[in-house]
Amino acid sequence: MNNGKTDIKSLTLAQLEVAVTKVGEPKFRAGQIYGWLHQKGAQSFSEMQNLPLALRRLLDEGFYINALTVLRKQVSADGTVKYLFRLLDGNTVETVLMRHHHGNSLCVSSQVGCRMGCRFCASTIGGLIRNLAPSEILDQIYFSGRESGLRIDSLVLMGMGEPLDNYDNVMTFLDILSSPEGLNMSHRHVSLSTCGLVDRIDELAAKKLQLTLSISLHASDDKTRSDIMPINNRYNIDTLLSACRRYLKATGRRISFEYSLIDGVNDTDGHAARLAALLRGLNCHVNLIPVNPVQERPYGKSKRVAAFCEKLTNLGINATIRRELGSDISAACGQLRRQTEGGIPQ
Ligand code: SAH
Repeated sequence: MNNGKTDIKSLTLAQLEVAVTKVGEPKFRAGQIYGWLHQKGAQSFSEMQNLPLALRRLLDEGFYINALTVLRKQVSADGTVKYLFRLLDGNTVETVLMRHHHGNSLCVSSQVGCRMGCRFCASTIGGLIRNLAPSEILDQIYFSGRESGLRIDSLVLMGMGEPLDNYDNVMTFLDILSSPEGLNMSHRHVSLSTCGLVDRIDELAAKKLQLTLSISLHASDDKTRSDIMPINNRYNIDTLLSACRRYLKATGRRISFEYSLIDGVNDTDGHAARLAALLRGLNCHVNLIPVNPVQERPYGKSKRVAAFCEKLTNLGINATIRRELGSDISAACGQLRRQTEGGIPQ
């Protein structure tokens, strides 16, 4: 809400049709408005030339169009672009555009801050400020696409926030994202990353979406995982992996596991062997990430990334090391926002 107005870009086409017919307009007007918002990037109702003037006025009275402002932009030597966007209420979120040989992917945020408390993560240090609206997640795609002039081929919900802790808005976002009258992006090009909210994973499985579920595992025993990820006290590794098996069965989609290697914490051959034993027989892929050190935290980069990967591979687990992109521009989630928070951007 903004001056009591409704956020029109957060409405699905079906919801917009209801709103339009309520004010006595024919249903097809909703499709026109939706196209202006999600395909043409309209930022005001006055741009919507094919709508009658009276309807444009009516829309202006009851609705607002969300927008983002680029507060900071950093370009890495490898072409990675990191945006710090300012939201309408002054909060900020980070979005990272990565260039791969197979296309461009965008890492989007789902919340301002986060309440999951993972010890190595910068996004959670100040707690959760608020959920992002569907429009604010969509606009990270629209604005970074427009600003960079690049086509966004795929998305990862791996920026700030826990997407399954903002479940309803993220589901609406996914609906609008894939609608043919909108950006028309297939869920096959979307990865959703979660620290492991098991009840929500089950809800998501029931929807049978074709997205890739990424699980932030980061440890192969409960003691280590609980030390670095408080969520493990609610849903332990066994409970989480059972949910992954149910997800796989319901959707047929291979699961992706993220494992950030932290020096002396989770990176021994013993940890790798235990991980291999846990994942045996599960159709999955392990993404190994050298932890990105965060100023406020004591965790350092593992020196055993290649050895850990080799151990897993030898044990028959499908594992790769994630290419580090944008490491020269503080690309770890939440770092740019923390540096800029409360201050004037340099
Ligand atoms: N809340 C979601 C998505 C956001 S973070 C989740 O937990 O999955 C995206 C990934 O980056 C997660 O795997 C997260 O654990 C990892 N991550 C966060 N901070 C990191 C850091 N400093 N170094 C390496 N990986 C990090």
